[in-house]
Amino acid sequence: MTDRRHIWQTWSRTVRCRPARWITPRVEGQLTEAVRTAAEQGLGVRVAGSGHSFNQLACTEDMLLDLSGYTGVLDIDRRAATVTVRGGTRLAEINAALDRAGLALANIGTLDAQTVAGAISTGNHGTGITHRPFSAQVSALRLVTAEGAVLCVDEESELMRAARTSLGTLGVISTVTLRCVPRFNLRSVPGAERLDGILDRFEEWAHSADHVSFNWLPWTEEAFTRAWHRTDEVPTRGAVRQRYATTVDEMRCGLAGLAGHRRPAAVPWAKRLLAAGVPTEYVDAGHRVFSFPQPVRFLALEHALPLENVPAALRELRVALRRFGAYSPYSVLVRVGAADDSPLSPVFGRLTGYVNLTVPRTARYTEILRTAEHLLRDLDGRPHWGKAHTATAEVLRPRYPQWDRFQAIRGKLDPTGMFCNEYVGRVLGPVDAAQQVYA
Ligand SMILES: Cc1cc2nc3c(=O)[nH]c(=O)nc-3n(C[C@H](O)[C@H](O)[C@H](O)COP(=O)(O)OP(=O)(O)OC[C@H]3O[C@@H](n4cnc5c(N)ncnc54)[C@H](O)[C@@H]3O)c2cc1C
Repeated sequence: MTDRRHIWQTWSRTVRCRPARWITPRVEGQLTEAVRTAAEQGLGVRVAGSGHSFNQLACTEDMLLDLSGYTGVLDIDRRAATVTVRGGTRLAEINAALDRAGLALANIGTLDAQTVAGAISTGNHGTGITHRPFSAQVSALRLVTAEGAVLCVDEESELMRAARTSLGTLGVISTVTLRCVPRFNLRSVPGAERLDGILDRFEEWAHSADHVSFNWLPWTEEAFTRAWHRTDEVPTRGAVRQRYATTVDEMRCGLAGLAGHRRPAAVPWAKRLLAAGVPTEYVDAGHRVFSFPQPVRFLALEHALPLENVPAALRELRVALRRFGAYSPYSVLVRVGAADDSPLSPVFGRLTGYVNLTVPRTARYTEILRTAEHLLRDLDGRPHWGKAHTATAEVLRPRYPQWDRFQAIRGKLDPTGMFCNEYVGRVLGPVDAAQQVYA
């Protein structure tokens, strides 16, 4: 019989594992002690944040360091505009503390339920052509190494650039200091436009507001755009309802997904039946505009493409997805971002358009995901580290100009591969191989 109490699983409940040791540290001393014990006993170690990655990144049969209790805002420095938090702290808690202090994070993704260290480690991002991924806001880290020592990593170091997107392979991120900005409001301006109209002037569109995104249902010709502009205006009355409007829309997608469970061809029909009202313009605090509660569980695949390849990607996706004739009830989401300098950042060295596909959690959609993945890969896409993909180190290495630098750092910090699991071995290769190449 399966003992469910000892099974760790992702938010999507599509990936699970049974760790031999499950440790929930509350102070840094317990983190270092756990890592030393693992080293003595020859155990592998993986760290779990909130499990919002869709793949086996955090899984282990050895020692799981579950940071759900390792939380808390340790310091807010108003003059320097920084916040220091424990690695397991969720973004929602950081946003609330900063809001009270008159500060904010410059940009986050659509979710605030994940941990700060999990977001950093997977290249988490929001949207905005001048905004790098979330981890670019990190100014200092404390990293517990494979020896159980604590390294203070500062902003200027090469180790910082590597640690900013490291999939938990360089050590355990104990505390994080993030740069903040003065608290700000955003005006959210929804719109609708023909998909081809946006694609014809995609780069201009990407630069048209502080933060832009669009959603598109593959059986339609129209895309729904959102532009978010910084503003000094006060929040609109009832703005909180707007935040939940997106949540309600996702619940409709969940229902349409159920309707399409037997007949995926029925999804467009179900979506029309459940059609949402027209979104309206409103102003609210930045962090409430960026993210919204997401109770419906799904699977997602996302690739970061050179900005100029996005129009071709969407046009090819349109043909490919229509050929299936079976649709996901979730729209394709397109966001944009600035180039990053972290070696494993999916946006390393290039302005980027992110193309995201969300599907219900049934095997029926596997082929659609696979088709989309290969299409995006062929257009020089790099997969989101925290989302579903099938790429191996062989596929990924040529896509990252500083891949070998990262592997050298990894080999130095974790020579025995303590922080590796089967999945990391697949996407990054074993540590030994890195050492042979860079010794
Ligand atoms: C509903 C939903 C919405 C999402 N929206 C977005 C979005 O808008 N933008 C986006 O980019 N992504 C998005 N994602 C993906 C997801 O947010 C990221 O993969 C993510 O940030 C994971 O954080 P986590 O705390 O859940 O980490 P986990 O999934 O638990 O772990 C992820 C990785 O981080 C490592 N890790 C965690 N904590 C530490 C630590 N302290 N030290 C070292 N390594 C550590 C783990 O070992 C693992 O390798 C979304 C996911 C979901 C489910």
